[in-house]
Amino acid sequence: MFIADAHCDTLYEIAICHTKPEDCVVTPDRLRRGGVGIQTFALFCGKHGTHGTAYQDGVDMLNAVPKLGVPVLTGELPDEPPEVPTGILSCEGGEMLEGSIERFNEFMASARLRMIALTWNFENEIGYPAKGGERKGLKPFGFELVRAMDAAGVRADVSHLNEAGFWDLMERAALAPIATHSNCRWLCDVPRNLTREQVKALIDRKGFIGINFYSDFLRTDGRATLDDVMRHIDAICEMGGEHVLGFGSDFDGIETWPDGLGDPSCFPVLLDALRRRGYSEETLAGIAGLNMWRVLKESK
Ligand SMILES: [Zn+2]
Repeated sequence: MFIADAHCDTLYEIAICHTKPEDCVVTPDRLRRGGVGIQTFALFCGKHGTHGTAYQDGVDMLNAVPKLGVPVLTGELPDEPPEVPTGILSCEGGEMLEGSIERFNEFMASARLRMIALTWNFENEIGYPAKGGERKGLKPFGFELVRAMDAAGVRADVSHLNEAGFWDLMERAALAPIATHSNCRWLCDVPRNLTREQVKALIDRKGFIGINFYSDFLRTDGRATLDDVMRHIDAICEMGGEHVLGFGSDFDGIETWPDGLGDPSCFPVLLDALRRRGYSEETLAGIAGLNMWRVLKESK
């Protein structure tokens, strides 16, 4: 079964934290053992906000791509989902673009970004983060960037964005927005998770929601198990979201995760548990990877 993961922070670990590739959670061997066909590697802005060198960090992460040890697609996607571990690139935190469409074009030429999380946890030139409670929507550069992203076939990732920015995007983005690594807020009430209204909007637009494996986003007491991952999946499916669901593990970016779900080799364990829970093979194939593949292929 084709498996895809919409988010990990491995490039940040390697390029910025100087962790040896073999000491990262996401390794070629674990991807292979887990049967992962597409792993999204984020260029992650870190704690820069509007002050700092997120751009230079982005360049450093791009230069570290060969250290990942898997092929990374920076051109056209193949017709069929890859059968061996293959990377694609995203951006987490639009401060890397320094408020400039030229910077966006530069990253597109070198990395062929597939999705951009407009903010991380700080205000930037694009908008405001989910953390912090700011009620203002996207800034003028945010709207300009979204137009450029639509034209270039790049999805806006709302995973760290505030609600006002989310609704601005829903109204203005031509390509359906996605949430690469966020869960259900009504099951675990943290700002990084999505409200019912947001989940419904993502389903209606045929976007994408990648379930995050971070224990604190699965349960407010942080003592999450595999069952909690499935509760979030059940909840989105009950709303009719089986065609927009997938995984956004957040590996190499999280400190805690459910027992038995600590690295990419564990995906089959989760899929088996869902199978035992009664999910059909067709639904499972969508959640495992084909839903994310659809979004990628539709982003032209
Ligand atoms: Zn994140």
